[in-house]
Amino acid sequence: MKFKKIYMDHAATTPLRKEVKKAMEPYFSKKFGNASSLHTRGQEAKDALEESREKVARLLEVDPENLYFTSSGTESNNTILKGTAFKNAEKGLLSKSKGHIITSKIEHPCIMETCEWLKTQGFDVTYVPVDEDGVIKVDEYKKAFRRDTILASVMYANNEIGTIQPIKELAKIASEKNVPFHTDAVQAYGKIPLNLDNVNALTVSSHKLYGPKGVGLLYSDTEFTPLLHGGGHENGKRAGTENVAGIVGFAKASELAFKEMEREKKRQAKLRDELIDGLLEIDNSMLNGHETKRLPNNVNVSFEYIEGESLVLKLDDEGIEASTGSACSSHKLKPSHVLQAIGLSAEEAHGSLRLTLGKENNEEHVDYVLENTPEVVEELREMSPTKPKKEKKEKKEISDPCFD
Ligand SMILES: *Cc1c(COP(=O)(O)O)cnc(C)c1O
Repeated sequence: MKFKKIYMDHAATTPLRKEVKKAMEPYFSKKFGNASSLHTRGQEAKDALEESREKVARLLEVDPENLYFTSSGTESNNTILKGTAFKNAEKGLLSKSKGHIITSKIEHPCIMETCEWLKTQGFDVTYVPVDEDGVIKVDEYKKAFRRDTILASVMYANNEIGTIQPIKELAKIASEKNVPFHTDAVQAYGKIPLNLDNVNALTVSSHKLYGPKGVGLLYSDTEFTPLLHGGGHENGKRAGTENVAGIVGFAKASELAFKEMEREKKRQAKLRDELIDGLLEIDNSMLNGHETKRLPNNVNVSFEYIEGESLVLKLDDEGIEASTGSACSSHKLKPSHVLQAIGLSAEEAHGSLRLTLGKENNEEHVDYVLENTPEVVEELREMSPTKPKKEKKEKKEISDPCFD
């Protein structure tokens, strides 16, 4: 059977669910009010906003007063990192550095780049390494705490390799050191049960779980200085007229994801394992990320002697939409920082394929991917300049396959 399109890139984004679209619709036109207006239409919007906040608070089992709606996971992560840094700088708690942040080597770019920028502003950052499965080295994490540490931030689950971190343990250590703990839970929220003991701050993004793009959530019970100043929206912590339709959609998407979590988790994990087993039958392939401490929807496999970007483009021709940790698309020579952090060589990292499942994927899709991928890999290897040939001719300079 030939499929037109099989989307297996749900870690990048997901389609809007029809139930979510339906819930959002009234707030674009009929109920268009500004939640700050005093009249009925304004109050209607305000009610929808606060009901959404309460809905999400119930799912997370947290106080709704500590939930702030933002524009994205990126904004939530920027807010907590910069906001904590600025808060401490304001307090004048200056030592050698303005403050020290602990994070891991495999965070999403919106954490990594924010930390790099904070370094230019006089803050100090420790990037704790991970083991070969992508699990943070807890001993090194523990040793990283200093007197001037103002925040620890470690992602719940990784977007590239799916590895789930021991958040309960990490948050407890931070709490014992009296340091607030933040986790980027964008890939974990709605997919696996979250343990938020000792977690002070959390980031979520709506478009990763069948909600609209442009809506994020920051939970924080710890003080931070806002990034956006203006009206008193979001308890004075995030100015800007609220995206009521988007927030209503996010709350609806969250509700549905939590309701279906147990079932989908099991169903997708089965498909995931079939994909992993099938892909590893291809010669010179290896799994990236932890075998079991892994998101139910994440498959990440490296194939030696090929270029991930070419593989993704070839698979796209076959109707399969996937992703790679190969960095050729961004025209940087460096491959994914995550794959490097788990110890892959540049060559191995360049040959990675990420498939991330969603609720519309099924057994037929898995079969189709497993029928087509081996051939595509074989074809690319035939053309590969890096594959060792049987009859070795004199060595030639191997040019980078990305730019050929
Ligand atoms: C997608 C993603 C983000 C960014 O969320 P946006 O809403 O797209 O800005 C942050 N962290 C992780 C782990 C992600 O997967």
